[in-house]
Amino acid sequence: MINISSIKLHMYCPMKLYIQTHVDKNEKNDYQLSIELKKLKIDIQDLIQKNMRKIKKDMSILEIERILSNNINAYIESTADTIKSMDLSIEPSQINEIIDDTYFNIKINAIKLKQVMSILDKDAHAIKDMFFPNSMYSYLLKDSQLELIGICDKIEIIDGKYYPISIKSSNPPLKGVWDENAIELVAYAILIEEEFDTEVYVGFVNYEKIGDKRPVIMDVNLRKGLFEVIREVKEITENKKLPKIRKNVKKCENCEYNEICIKD
Ligand code: SF4
Repeated sequence: MINISSIKLHMYCPMKLYIQTHVDKNEKNDYQLSIELKKLKIDIQDLIQKNMRKIKKDMSILEIERILSNNINAYIESTADTIKSMDLSIEPSQINEIIDDTYFNIKINAIKLKQVMSILDKDAHAIKDMFFPNSMYSYLLKDSQLELIGICDKIEIIDGKYYPISIKSSNPPLKGVWDENAIELVAYAILIEEEFDTEVYVGFVNYEKIGDKRPVIMDVNLRKGLFEVIREVKEITENKKLPKIRKNVKKCENCEYNEICIKD
């Protein structure tokens, strides 16, 4: 069974996938931490959604921001403590980044919300579906025939159609989405099609640093690309094929395996 997290890692760097699969035994901690941080971000969205119900159309943008922020800091702090108690090492900078991204998103939502409430002359509870469509979070998808498994960050359901959403804290490209993000998304799309007996035509990558949700069309080429990547991932994870090192200054200088690859 191929986990979509392996596909993501392979798209980032095949050598990193090899090292984490066959060499580095501490990798599971990092993986667990990334899952906990993702859960935290999803819970924060849930809190913002709940807070939104209390907002009235005559409130100022500052008041809206204040209400949207209710309980968020306390929740982030208590979750960080829980993560530490799980023996997962979390850096203060990781928490600060989540706080910064959250308050940036709250500011954007406050401005948008004020504008929409004024135009439609409605309180927030009447228009919250425009901001938070009916969704399933951290949904486990699995297909035995495709031998593929993964947890989709969010699946939005609008008028009976399913839209996979991938939430990213990385910097976005100037336009469109990164190839690795598109491949990950098409994997979720294919699993959603199997799970819900439906067709998925489009998904979205939500680059939360800039509050931008970018569409990805699930066309034939992207689907073919996924199966090619799955084949390469199997070669590395199942057949232990050593991939070629593809040095990339930006990626390698921040990579914990830099020393290994330099020696090689
Ligand atoms: S140092 Fe560079 S080539 Fe080596 S695993 Fe890390 S990202 Fe990949």
